[in-house]
Amino acid sequence: MYLKKIELHGFKSFADRTEIEFEPGINAIVGPNGSGKSNITDAIRWVLGEQSIKTLRGSKLEDVIFAGSQKRKPMGMAEVSIVLDNSDYLLPLEYSEVCITRRTFRSGESEFYLNKLPCRLKDIQELFMDTGIGKDGYSIISQGEVDEFLMARPEERRLIFEETAGIMKYKVRKKEAERKLEETMANLARVDDILSEIK
Ligand code: ATP
Repeated sequence: MYLKKIELHGFKSFADRTEIEFEPGINAIVGPNGSGKSNITDAIRWVLGEQSIKTLRGSKLEDVIFAGSQKRKPMGMAEVSIVLDNSDYLLPLEYSEVCITRRTFRSGESEFYLNKLPCRLKDIQELFMDTGIGKDGYSIISQGEVDEFLMARPEERRLIFEETAGIMKYKVRKKEAERKLEETMANLARVDDILSEIK
């Protein structure tokens, strides 16, 4: 699997629809300071479901939307799509090409699409979980992240190994099952209360 293409429209400094194609192997993006190189990695993180605006180097949600320039009005929407070559079917889908799209508006709504079909953030997160590509994967190493890893506490470092070893998915599902179990127990207790009131 490899990143084949990224398409940005209205995302940060990319007001115009911009398409960048990548080849298998090493690709480099070069450009002057402030020309938007890091905005491209921000876009990849964002489309993979990043919810933390701080990680995206912003301070409020709408900071991912083009804020306008001297010559151009601000935009109302940001959209990013990535196309992944999945001919090795590493992503558990029957498509040899997978396109993920995220769109957001100034109102704060976010929409996700998987191969042009609307889906939930959760679907995207689950699809990439344990592949090393998700927003918590380690396929994107930002400036300072290596230092962070070296300085991390053992418990934090363990989380990194767990994601790399591919067991994160099971931990997340276990947590979800436990939450549902708790809800069911609370409902049962309520049913018991109602029954004893009726008696
Ligand atoms: P460096 O080489 O210095 O790390 P870079 O090429 O990685 O720079 P970025 O950090 O990706 O550059 O881009 C910064 C530019 O993006 C700044 O000019 C900033 O004004 C612009 N920018 C960021 N957010 C927005 C936004 N919402 N609307 C318009 N422009 C934005």
